Amino acid sequence: MEDFEAIVGTDNVITADADMIPYLHDATGALKGSAAAVICPGSTEEVAAVVRLASKRALKVTVQSGNTSLCGGSVPRGNPDEIILSLRRLNSIRSVDAAARTATVDAGVVIETLQTRVAEDGLDFPLMFGARGSAMIGGALSTNAGGSNVLRYGNARELCLGIEAVLPSGEVIHALGGLIKDNRGYDFRNLLIGAEGTLGIITGAVLRLVPTPKVRATAFLALDGIDQALHVLNCLQDASGGQVEAFEWMPGVTVEAIRSVMPELRAPLEQTAETGILVELASTRASDAAMDESGEVALQTTLLSAIEGLMEEGGVIDGFFATSEQQRRDLWHLREATLEALVKLGPFVALDASLPLSRVPEFLSRADPLAEAARLRVLPIGHLGDGNLHYSVVAAEGHDWDPQRVAAFSSQVYDLLEDLGGSFSAEHGIGRSKAATLAKRKEPSQFALMRAIKASVDPQNMLGSGIFFPLET
Ligand SMILES: Cc1cc2nc3c(=O)[nH]c(=O)nc-3n(C[C@H](O)[C@H](O)[C@H](O)COP(=O)(O)OP(=O)(O)OC[C@H]3O[C@@H](n4cnc5c(N)ncnc54)[C@H](O)[C@@H]3O)c2cc1C
Repeated sequence: MEDFEAIVGTDNVITADADMIPYLHDATGALKGSAAAVICPGSTEEVAAVVRLASKRALKVTVQSGNTSLCGGSVPRGNPDEIILSLRRLNSIRSVDAAARTATVDAGVVIETLQTRVAEDGLDFPLMFGARGSAMIGGALSTNAGGSNVLRYGNARELCLGIEAVLPSGEVIHALGGLIKDNRGYDFRNLLIGAEGTLGIITGAVLRLVPTPKVRATAFLALDGIDQALHVLNCLQDASGGQVEAFEWMPGVTVEAIRSVMPELRAPLEQTAETGILVELASTRASDAAMDESGEVALQTTLLSAIEGLMEEGGVIDGFFATSEQQRRDLWHLREATLEALVKLGPFVALDASLPLSRVPEFLSRADPLAEAARLRVLPIGHLGDGNLHYSVVAAEGHDWDPQRVAAFSSQVYDLLEDLGGSFSAEHGIGRSKAATLAKRKEPSQFALMRAIKASVDPQNMLGSGIFFPLET
């Protein structure tokens, strides 16, 4: 490893087993791997030099940022000649252009760190999900991450205006112009976003920022069934002029399961809501933040009166309105505790289903019986406003966790998703754990094109081997 040490410094090459442990399992804890070393370069030039050396030595390289992947993309699994290239030292916010509402950052900047920094300028980087305190910009772009605000601001792809990256050849792509319009041929920024570290190593990015909302209005609603959800969402969008920032499905079964292992979390409603929705409106308009004639904050009145109308109609049967920032935080804490609760509840699989919005009720009515037949308990949650359901399963009470049975069930759900025009991968990526599924289910002509691009950019199959393309195919 001396050659690598010469590039990045002795302290930035990790080889001791104990020190490597945090780098060798993903966020689910279920996927573990091994590596010869973890190399932590501190600049784009060092990344390029590490890549050139790895290529010369015919090593495999797994790129790692915050290591919050839920599908084994950040963790090597089975190549003894593999190194992890960690971006954690590339962590400076290069510049913030408050007027243009953009930030130029190193890829290893933690999302929450960027959010805290740009808040000083009254701005936000609106990528919002539970792992934002660890996940980094490069990882979020590489997985085209989503979260609870996609409904309003789009996913990571929509928030990226430019990219700097190191290719497997060691060449550096400089595309940090941040142009909103740029049609000079193929768009490598878009090729690298969602590429999960298989085509290049993102070292920097220009990101779109939005003004921080002046006011928010947050509520937890009990709906009279999932088939009411789209109507409720549309009514809230209409009433607020499109200010719905989050529309998160939190069914009672999941809320109760979370609280069974985290009893300190408060239930939002006295009666468990079978179809619970966490809804949040946000506005940058001063008039929405001002008191109205009833003495309430105007945006909150907007939400409240829309909910009252929906209750009169019968679509909403109960509701809790957050009247303080603490109550709002408690609701989000409950929402974001899902993964931690699932880990505590035992072995689980979180299917990352994407559906046309109008097909969600049909999906649930057909998938739930499949789970029951497989002796699995469904604990779903979802970014319902995007048609993205995290359809998680644990063993049903009194039954064992049988990986083969779970795999057969997953395959049935994937068939169902295809039948409904959906996708088996919405926002968590493919990584290594879903590579075989991708190979089987991606349209053959598109999968062949993916292979051709990979072979052309990375002929040695150095980066992210086993991601997208199963090692045995
Ligand atoms: C509690 C929790 C909640 C989550 N909620 C959501 C959610 O709501 N929405 C969502 O989309 N995701 C969610 N995730 C998944 C996860 O946070 C995302 O996949 C995240 O974007 C990955 O970022 P990271 O920095 O941790 O990347 P890593 O996990 O380190 O890497 C992810 C992938 O990107 C590649 N990669 C990493 N950095 C680079 C780089 N600089 N250049 C090229 N390739 C790179 C890796 O090789 C790997 O394939 C959640 C995860 C957890 C643990």
